[in-house]
Amino acid sequence: MSTSTSISLSSTQTCSKCNSIRIALVVGRVKDQCFQAIRGKWYEGYPSLDNISAGDNLDFAFCLDCGQIQGRFPVSLTWLEGAEEE
Ligand SMILES: [Zn+2]
Repeated sequence: MSTSTSISLSSTQTCSKCNSIRIALVVGRVKDQCFQAIRGKWYEGYPSLDNISAGDNLDFAFCLDCGQIQGRFPVSLTWLEGAEEE
């Protein structure tokens, strides 16, 4: 696969939560037609949420055993949530 991703997934990567080797990587080219929502506030545009986004792509890896999305958590407050507090 030639698509560049933000998540470098090696064949030896294990789940950060349960240590399973069953990690699935998903990359989808959505460009500016990605819908994201937090607590009912919707945004249409390029993927922007940490751990699932890379430029034009939805790009994430998750564990097929426990469901954990691989990445760094907690994600700091997003602008979608900040706008909600105004
Ligand atoms: Zn897991």
